[in-house]
Amino acid sequence: MRAVDPDTCMVQGAMPPLSSSPLAVAVIGAGPSGFYAAESLLKGRDDVRVDLIDRLPTPFGLVRYGVAPDHQKIKSVTRLYERTASDPRVRFYGNVEIGRDVRVEELARHYHAIVFAYGAPGDRRLGVPGEDLAGSLSATDFVAWYNGHPDHAELEPPLAGATAVVVGVGNVAVDVTRILAKTNRELAASDIADHALTALEDSGVRDVVVLGRRGPAEAKFTTKELRELGELADADIVVDERDLDVAPESLAAIATDAVAKKNLEVLAGFASRPLTGKGRRVHLRFLSSPVELVPDASGTRVGSVVIERNRIEVRPDGSLAAVGTGEREELSAQLVLRSVGYRGAAMPGVPFDERTGVIPNERGRVLDAAGGAVVSGRYVVGWIKRGPTGVIGTNKADAMETIAALFEDGLREPEDARPEALDELLRSRGVEVIDFERWSRIDRAELAAGVRAGRVRVKLVSRAALMTAAESIDALEGGSAEGR
Ligand code: NAP
Repeated sequence: MRAVDPDTCMVQGAMPPLSSSPLAVAVIGAGPSGFYAAESLLKGRDDVRVDLIDRLPTPFGLVRYGVAPDHQKIKSVTRLYERTASDPRVRFYGNVEIGRDVRVEELARHYHAIVFAYGAPGDRRLGVPGEDLAGSLSATDFVAWYNGHPDHAELEPPLAGATAVVVGVGNVAVDVTRILAKTNRELAASDIADHALTALEDSGVRDVVVLGRRGPAEAKFTTKELRELGELADADIVVDERDLDVAPESLAAIATDAVAKKNLEVLAGFASRPLTGKGRRVHLRFLSSPVELVPDASGTRVGSVVIERNRIEVRPDGSLAAVGTGEREELSAQLVLRSVGYRGAAMPGVPFDERTGVIPNERGRVLDAAGGAVVSGRYVVGWIKRGPTGVIGTNKADAMETIAALFEDGLREPEDARPEALDELLRSRGVEVIDFERWSRIDRAELAAGVRAGRVRVKLVSRAALMTAAESIDALEGGSAEGR
């Protein structure tokens, strides 16, 4: 395959072999895929050093800011990442933003390779009228809000209305539904952000209506997550048996899909359950699409959702599509959470495929365009490599594939591979770097505040609070943890 020199944009022949050691690699993004990339690099050779760079002062990406606060078991994967972080060959550069503090081309002067691991920070659009009304939020923003992401603390989702609509039937839709339907007692011990716990305590939401555009057999949620919706303390689950009539077109697909089969069994169980008079209800509806969000009397806020009934149609490529039947109803709702998937974003100085929302690549080697030439010394892992699918563990095999490619390649010697070069550059720009030692002070402060409050941890939310905790744990142990 041809290779392009990223500086000159010239197509190269064979690259000269690495002449100095250790191999210096910058990984951009300290979420699961970044950590698995670092782990693979460490396991692959001794003479390597890895700098993990993240724009947030905190590591662990979506484990901290995406995984639901009531799924602490999943979050325990951070112990593995901590092991990686404790390796002397790894450094963490938190609070360093590519483009603002340092450019990719500048990093390339100091590293043999750069691995992009920055995930898919955006969200997909629904493409229906009214989508931008107040009260229509992306689930990705809502998730970041309840998880205490510093950039989303001001969201203020409108929770006063009685009905919320969740669009999409993936695991994120299940997460946001569960958080809306759980009681404070069920959430209180978790590490949900304090502002979210308070807002949800006052929530007026009584009915959460989840809409799947295709049938139940095509739903993306996994069975364990689906089951959880039937185990909520104060929410009944409502499934209409009419929705469980599997379209003949879907039957063939189910025959080979164990998850779909299990999901259907669980849904059938839900449909046969009588309502028990709990205070809230979760309605799972299928073959239903929102076709318009209608404003209330203010003209600016969501007041209702027009929902169209769909049927399943087989596309020429064999995939199953939802097609509107024209049968419509209008449902009064004050909050709409669009949970139709994350989307990757472009990073300055890095190729990006607008159509697919990923960095074009072949087995993790960055290409200058989809189907184009390899950009030497640039690699990609995780959601920004393959799109926003898969569970946390999926990123491990994904990172191994990329790092295997990196090890195969002859990499160019950087201009200045001194380990202190990045520190010097960032210091000259006045960037306040959070390293692992400083992060561990934040971590300890949050855990200590959690112990005092009888919770897993009390998250510090604002960047200012995080930066203060990074400098001094003592002040926070005195009881001033933000939000307490
Ligand atoms: P997802 O699994 O891709 O689900 C997206 C959902 O949105 C699908 O139901 C999809 O329906 C629907 N959708 C897309 N466009 C739509 C439109 N225009 N109108 C209506 N519906 C539309 O994505 P996700 O829920 O964001 O999750 C991302 C990844 O993270 C997944 O791999 C997920 O399993 C993982 N995750 C895992 C956990 C966990 O393990 N507990 C928790 C959260 C997330 P179609 O199928 O018809 O396209």
